[in-house]
Amino acid sequence: MYKDIVSEELSRKVEAYLSQPLKLLIGGRWVEARSGAVMETLNPATAQPIATFALGGAEDVDLAVRAAREAFDTGKWTGMSFLKRQECLLRLADMIEASVDELALLESLDIGAPLPRSRASVGAVNYDNIRYLAGWIGKIGGETFETAQPNQHAFSSLEPLGVVAAITPWNAPLRSIVNKVVPALVAGCTVVVKPAEFSPLTAIRFGQMAQEAGIPDGVLNIVTGLGTVAGQALVDHPLVDKITFTGSTATGKSIVRAAAGTLKRVSLELGGKSPVFVFADANLDVAIPTIATGIFNNAGQMCVAGSRLYVEDSVFDRVVEGIADIARKTKVGTQFEEGVAMGPVISQGQLDKVTRFIAGSQADGATVVTGGERIDRQGYFVQPTVLTGTSRDMAAVREEIFGPVLCAMPMQDSDIDSLAAVANDTEFGLAAFIWTRDLGVAHKLSRRIRSGWVRVNGGANIEHNVPFGGQKQSGWGRERGRDGIAAFMERKAVLMDF
Ligand code: NAD
Repeated sequence: MYKDIVSEELSRKVEAYLSQPLKLLIGGRWVEARSGAVMETLNPATAQPIATFALGGAEDVDLAVRAAREAFDTGKWTGMSFLKRQECLLRLADMIEASVDELALLESLDIGAPLPRSRASVGAVNYDNIRYLAGWIGKIGGETFETAQPNQHAFSSLEPLGVVAAITPWNAPLRSIVNKVVPALVAGCTVVVKPAEFSPLTAIRFGQMAQEAGIPDGVLNIVTGLGTVAGQALVDHPLVDKITFTGSTATGKSIVRAAAGTLKRVSLELGGKSPVFVFADANLDVAIPTIATGIFNNAGQMCVAGSRLYVEDSVFDRVVEGIADIARKTKVGTQFEEGVAMGPVISQGQLDKVTRFIAGSQADGATVVTGGERIDRQGYFVQPTVLTGTSRDMAAVREEIFGPVLCAMPMQDSDIDSLAAVANDTEFGLAAFIWTRDLGVAHKLSRRIRSGWVRVNGGANIEHNVPFGGQKQSGWGRERGRDGIAAFMERKAVLMDF
């Protein structure tokens, strides 16, 4: 239990926060759902409730969107000087930095991740990103153009898109919210956030901090609730100008269909089935643990998880055995146990899905090198799993499992054409990993892989100024850096005759 490992003061603070039903943030006020409905959020490590939150419905979404619309149309945010807006965001970053222990505790409870992992996921990756993004305020401008008319001046400006609906997943709750809300605010938009129903805790705390940091009423609104109800109402709402979504490819497609009605702008960060290529010349001492982290971190619930491993024949056994050995030694347990490296998956549904994939691939002839079983204890635990004997037509190789399951296969052929074909033999195109000391191979292969992000000789690290997003069915658009802000802006051209 966390009370044994955190200060008494923090324990009391978190207990007080969890003891009250969490409310919706609409127009600067914390309110219950109009229906009065609430829902429980569970601790995935125990399957026991931790807190209650308001279950927002279409009426609440309508009020939140109208509040955001009014705040946008009356210039509540863009009417503030850019230095003041920047100050608000920098204050928010400072508050997150000062609250890392509290936010990590809340996020660990909500998604089951080990506390040290949550600390990394809620900490610098967010407050440094906010500081980086805040630096762009007042620095994004348009262009001037020469025209064929002698008495004419033409220029373009970049304007905020308006009201943004931000819909986020549960696997990195606070980070997903920061990645959407902050660039939208930097662009000058107002926002309604719909966090995942599995992870409302840090979302609500983020809203409280944003208020304290001075972000005006109505500029940021938060409606917790079900995707099929609150999420759907948000994507259907005619006063929303832009939807930014992170989640599954299936939901992404349904959002695109819903957005067609009013031609809302849409950005999508969706699923992946990322390949990992290991060549015999790679530094295996670094590659092996990094690849293991890449699939077992957060119990495999990472969009960029390297889940298809292709290894050159001569080092196949060493690499697979090395990763399997790490898997066997990985301590799986609850958030607050000493030395735990992997927690549960998020829900019973997710646990069933992961074990179904494993059993299905075994039935199709795959071999379980290690793991493969759910862990017989309270909560939603599954063993870190390595499969061999998998092939391109198996569901475990084609579909996103979103669990700690690695499919390891020998490279059939190590020429660039064959490897590019293997990498691209998927509907996804989010990330790819290449391990080699041969820069020619690294360049040639990364050029040929159809994914939004390629990592050579390393794992999934985040750089705030480097764009991230998917090709093919892994998404539309990019987050992070200048591209991530431009996603919330639209260009206007003005032609003026003297
Ligand atoms: P999900 O699609 O089930 O849910 C994501 C969000 O969408 C939740 O807030 C949910 O309530 C909402 N939602 C569900 N149905 C909706 C609907 N009809 N209309 C509007 N909103 C709706 O995804 P998940 O299971 O929460 O998250 C896991 C998925 O997210 C994985 O596929 C993973 O790869 C992906 N992901 C992608 C990235 C990325 O950057 N590309 C990052 C993290 C996660």
